[in-house]
Amino acid sequence: MGWANCGHDSKGRPIGYAHSATCDHPGCDAQIHRGVAYACGGDHGEAEWSCDGYFCNRHRNKYLPIEGWIVGVCQKDYDEAKAYAIKSPELAQELVRFFEEDEGPDWRGPEANQ
Ligand SMILES: [Zn+2]
Ligand SMILES: [Zn+2]
Repeated sequence: MGWANCGHDSKGRPIGYAHSATCDHPGCDAQIHRGVAYACGGDHGEAEWSCDGYFCNRHRNKYLPIEGWIVGVCQKDYDEAKAYAIKSPELAQELVRFFEEDEGPDWRGPEANQ
């Protein structure tokens, strides 16, 4: 066992840094590998706010707090987490705190202030 081969993801694809791949963002063909360095959420598999996709640096450039760590995630998960924090702030206090610190008081975006 090692990090080169880590089994398969939910779509049956081999994962681990030994497996070269292209970015999972639709239409992006950047060359990556399926190691944790490119994993949404910084680890294999799904977590509360990450999918089990693998993305190039351009498409994994958002950050969220997951289980006490600040990790890189894809745009889709970031958008979902933010939508949840806006809709249910009392249930998503960690996210709300993170967005306030990271993006300032206007983190909900201009639409939300109208
Ligand atoms: Zn994701
Ligand atoms: Zn990409």
